[in-house]
Amino acid sequence: MDYMIGVDIGTTTTKSVLYDMKGKVVAYANSGYQLYQDAPDMAEEDPDDILHAVIEVMGQVMYKSKVKADEIKGVSFSSAMHSLILMDEADQPLTKAITWADNRAAKYSDELKDNGLGAKIYARTGTPIHPMAPLSKILWLRHEKPELFKKAKKFIDLKTYVFFKLFGVYRMDYSIASATGMFNIFDLKWNQGVLDLLQITEKQLPELVETTASISGIAPRFAELLNISTRTPFIFGASDGVLSNLGVDAIDPGVVAVTIGTSGAVRVTVDKPVVDPDGKLFCYALTKDKWVVGGPVNNGGIVFRWVKDQLFAPERITAEQMQVSTYDILTQIAEKIPAGSDGLLFHPYLGGERAPIWNAYARGSFFGLTRNHTRAHMVRAALEGIVYNLYVVMLTIEKVAGKPKSIQATGGFARSALWRQMLADIFEQPITIPESFESSCLGAAVLGMYALGYIDNLAAVKDMIGVTDVHKPNSDNFEVYRELLPIWIRISHLLEPEYKEIADFQRKHTK
Ligand code: ADP
Repeated sequence: MDYMIGVDIGTTTTKSVLYDMKGKVVAYANSGYQLYQDAPDMAEEDPDDILHAVIEVMGQVMYKSKVKADEIKGVSFSSAMHSLILMDEADQPLTKAITWADNRAAKYSDELKDNGLGAKIYARTGTPIHPMAPLSKILWLRHEKPELFKKAKKFIDLKTYVFFKLFGVYRMDYSIASATGMFNIFDLKWNQGVLDLLQITEKQLPELVETTASISGIAPRFAELLNISTRTPFIFGASDGVLSNLGVDAIDPGVVAVTIGTSGAVRVTVDKPVVDPDGKLFCYALTKDKWVVGGPVNNGGIVFRWVKDQLFAPERITAEQMQVSTYDILTQIAEKIPAGSDGLLFHPYLGGERAPIWNAYARGSFFGLTRNHTRAHMVRAALEGIVYNLYVVMLTIEKVAGKPKSIQATGGFARSALWRQMLADIFEQPITIPESFESSCLGAAVLGMYALGYIDNLAAVKDMIGVTDVHKPNSDNFEVYRELLPIWIRISHLLEPEYKEIADFQRKHTK
């Protein structure tokens, strides 16, 4: 039989799934690694840890599945975005991999925003101006670590590093490139103006390839370790975000992918690159003809975790003793409260926020509290607030990508029927929860099947994903949300100018 391996290089774990050509999971493996956070705002990984994890998970799925080397028709990759590694003249890493979560370049992204250059760069690159982007990181290194900057022969990302180790070439796909802040999404080239600003040359960046491009001839020692053939093509693939859209079948116009895991995201696929006049959305490549527009949100399920740990500690202990999920107990409590939480509103900005407000100083708040509100109202308001915030991201997306028509939703939140229904009611859209497991791995595998001609169209993913739940918006509920949303949005604008002062106070006084 024919099989395909999908590999997803994540921030804390690399995963691999071996699929048959119908997208059925045959074997799965994952391997975690350390995130180095020795200094404030630092978040790095050792690139060799990632390489070892990639080898380990691929080796494991080969071992577990007992599939023969020549039955593997391809290996296709997904990767976290925005990582940066500096390589020296001898092709050795000069730095660890600086990840998206590293904020040390904040001063330089702030400068780009303030001097107006940022808006011009965003209009060509589709990457929001933020410390996460390699653009900001390279500026930071040039100013603050000039000795490293001067020694750098190449500026690459984690996936380019893995491919370099396996095949000896520096190549980056359009998708990962489109999240660097240095790539012109309209002409598919490195942007010369940005390179001039950074004082680097095109030769210092990887060669650009399509996401469907492949390479074979893996170094024999790795072929042996993995028990695969040196003839097996490796597809360069794309970033985890856009592949997750593919892996949940959100690739048609108007089909929105909403994720609420620890963090969250709203993303929709369009057929041409588009940018947002306010610079608040990303636009990243899936293929040359499919682009994913969206916004990443810091405050997803992590806020529900805070409610559980800080407001319901006794329930947590009881739940643990009864061996049930505290989240399930809390959603049962919230279910007794009517939609709209009797007018209690919650802004979920416990961890600053990226989309929709892009304000690192943002803080959370309850608004509208009365003596009648209970802890149960607070849980429901928190769950609603997380979804209101995602809905505001959707409103921004609508301006550049048109009205949504349905939602494919994923992430830990989907374990709660109440929360799923809330998403349908607040967005006023039918929502489907796909069964697909490890959607970025599936997206990578499907892209690989397409690249190698095993399927004619990416839409073949439709038959691979399965469905666990479907929810239709409930008109009684959405009428309430329609009334509350404008208030929620107005309050969030009113609070915006106040966030910095309270954040400064907290920084100054909190030990
Ligand atoms: P990650 O994004 O880190 O991969 P998940 O997708 O598993 O994580 O999402 C974790 C979040 O899912 C938790 O923070 C919590 O908010 C939410 N969650 C987990 N279990 C439940 C549950 N039973 N009901 C509702 N929400 C849940």
